[in-house]
Amino acid sequence: MQISKKEQDDIRDQLLAEKAELNKRVSSIHLHAKNPLDADSAEQAAQIGNLAVVSALESEAVTELSHINAALQRLESGDYGICASCGEPISIGRLMARPASTECLDCAELDNPG
Ligand SMILES: [Zn+2]
Repeated sequence: MQISKKEQDDIRDQLLAEKAELNKRVSSIHLHAKNPLDADSAEQAAQIGNLAVVSALESEAVTELSHINAALQRLESGDYGICASCGEPISIGRLMARPASTECLDCAELDNPG
């Protein structure tokens, strides 16, 4: 692995902080989703609209959490920082900016042009 111990520690801290933040977000989403619908029908419509947004936010947070857990696992196993598509090392700048990245910049751009 091309990443120093210090960088790995920084990245792990960052991943754990993001994980805690996402967990907090998911539980607050659950809290909101459990609130009973308002009796007023206009309010109900607004709340149902909110629920759709909420579930989109939740699935986004859950997906992100799974990426973070996978990144933490790769840190433990020593595969961290290797592109899942081409097998080349991912640049440290990219890892610092997006620690849950599984692909190098080139491959990520191929997957998501623009
Ligand atoms: Zn790649």
